[in-house]
Amino acid sequence: MTDIIHLLPDRIANQIAAGEVVQRPSSVVKELMENAVDADADEIKVIIKEAGKTLIHIIDNGNGMTETDARMSLERHATSKISKTEDLFSLKTMGFRGEALASIAAVAQLNLKTRIGENELGSELVVEASEVKSQNPESTPKGTSVSVKNLFYNIPARRNFLKSNGVEMRHIVEEFQRIALSRPDIAFSLYQNDLPSYQLTKGKLTHRIVQLFGKNYKEQLATVQESTPHLSVHGYVGKPESSKKTRGEQFIFVNNRFIKSGYLNHAILAAYEGLISSDHYPFYVLMIEIDPSHIDVNVHPTKTEIKFIDERTVYGVIKAVVKQALGAHNLRPSIDFDLDVNFGKGPPVSGNFENIRDKKYSQYQTFGSQPSPQDLRRIEKLYDTVLKDKDPAKVSNVELTFQSSANDLMFGHGESDQNRSFTFLLHNRYIVTQVKSGMMYIDINRSHERILYEKYLKQLDTKRNASQQSLFPQTVQLNPTDYALWQDIKDEVASLGFDIEDFGANTIVINGYPSDINDLDEKQLFEGLIEQYKIFSSELSLPKKERISRSFARRSAIKSGTFLDDKEMLALIDGLFGCDNPNFSPDGQLTFFILDLNKIEQFFN
Ligand code: ADP
Ligand code: MG
Repeated sequence: MTDIIHLLPDRIANQIAAGEVVQRPSSVVKELMENAVDADADEIKVIIKEAGKTLIHIIDNGNGMTETDARMSLERHATSKISKTEDLFSLKTMGFRGEALASIAAVAQLNLKTRIGENELGSELVVEASEVKSQNPESTPKGTSVSVKNLFYNIPARRNFLKSNGVEMRHIVEEFQRIALSRPDIAFSLYQNDLPSYQLTKGKLTHRIVQLFGKNYKEQLATVQESTPHLSVHGYVGKPESSKKTRGEQFIFVNNRFIKSGYLNHAILAAYEGLISSDHYPFYVLMIEIDPSHIDVNVHPTKTEIKFIDERTVYGVIKAVVKQALGAHNLRPSIDFDLDVNFGKGPPVSGNFENIRDKKYSQYQTFGSQPSPQDLRRIEKLYDTVLKDKDPAKVSNVELTFQSSANDLMFGHGESDQNRSFTFLLHNRYIVTQVKSGMMYIDINRSHERILYEKYLKQLDTKRNASQQSLFPQTVQLNPTDYALWQDIKDEVASLGFDIEDFGANTIVINGYPSDINDLDEKQLFEGLIEQYKIFSSELSLPKKERISRSFARRSAIKSGTFLDDKEMLALIDGLFGCDNPNFSPDGQLTFFILDLNKIEQFFN
């Protein structure tokens, strides 16, 4: 029998290794940026086309490589960063496994140009799928330029597996931000399809934070600074009031390397206890310096997870210093966040709510209060939907026949005095109305969300775009992540009635907004939509249209605690029972229930 075990050809071994290192375009960006940082560059330029699917090009002004090193750098396990075992325990560099370049070269078309300071001429290497096509002397600036074209071109299955440009770009920006934050002493720039997304100049960490996340972060930061025998920490944490509902702006670095640590995140959140509500996340950038022999970096192949030898001490120190930082800023403890947003805070201040009401609910004016054949059909549908519901347990098992006077009320037949006696607002949160079998309680916020949700879904299907022009078009500067996200959903956003123009370089102009929304600020409206869409996208794996409809409905629905007048209440009831599925809010919560007369009687017995 002949031997059957043989060595894998290098090319295949490299492809397999690549699977570990190169998962998506952002992994390439990370590895190449880290190499540039390790090469002591103080200026690093990142050029991306089509979210890295066609081009990732990183240019640095670092040490460069000799001709031989350039050739060697593409070999697997070729690294200049460790030469003996002990080095592993005192790592100061980002990379050390010597796998990145070899892996990238195995799954793309790679062009490497590099020159060291002493030499006048550098060299250029062209590689495709691990095969060196050419190596020639080349005049090139000091430093290294690596361009990676058509990632995964030779592995179609992986290429097809890549997500939309919006998603892939988001990952790239994430990696870019992490490395940029870790080294404010290096100038970084990011270009996306030829347009600059970021141009970060050298400076202090605060400066970098502001350049990355916006000017308003300046006032939001509390300083962290502490040295203990075990470790030292410095950085910034966001003041509680600047916390957000979406994650994404939490950064922990250990010895300048971004890491993910649920454990340390927990320590930081524990320091915020009582200061922010449990569904909010604070901003933080913490730089931890610790003796490398006290950590084990190698637990994860892409090295974003590390293990501390003495976890508990690290936890305790981090919690204490963050707490101290927050205290030092004299932050008053908040009262009760759970009572905040979604629940009424007592009657709204007069004048203020008038304004909101007029603007927000004018969409109802179109419903009018005169009865119409549609009204009749809607009310019939109410009986149908509720009574024929497949899951009777979910619906109050009551007879839903309205008294004639209640019918009148719903159709607006009755005198207005009479209306008031049958429908009223309870604590600005519920509409209470009499039905034949008892009292119906309608949750205003949930019902309105249901109404809007169905309406937006239909708009997205018909692509009907009812837009009104803004008197003063607003320019909005988005961050690159949100910009990429918007590009992903811009057709749908247009169908909702937004008239938005793309100005490139993360800038858009809002020329018009949905005509049925007279919200106070179309910029806020749009940003709210994006923010909500992000939240839902991370929580739900629903089709895009559904996510958008839900997001916009959530954002523009009447909030609990808002005063409604009779006309508005009737319009809301009308709208709810005109829905295909009036029983539940889009996320499946009960929109109304009926307190049965029998139940009421029971109370008295
Ligand atoms: P590692 O970073 O783990 O050493 P890589 O495959 O990323 O492995 O790189 C291999 C080697 O190529 C590095 O050790 C370094 O010597 C050299 N190298 C890679 N990128 C650069 C660069 N931008 N500038 C200078 N040298 C580089
Ligand atoms: Mg490397």
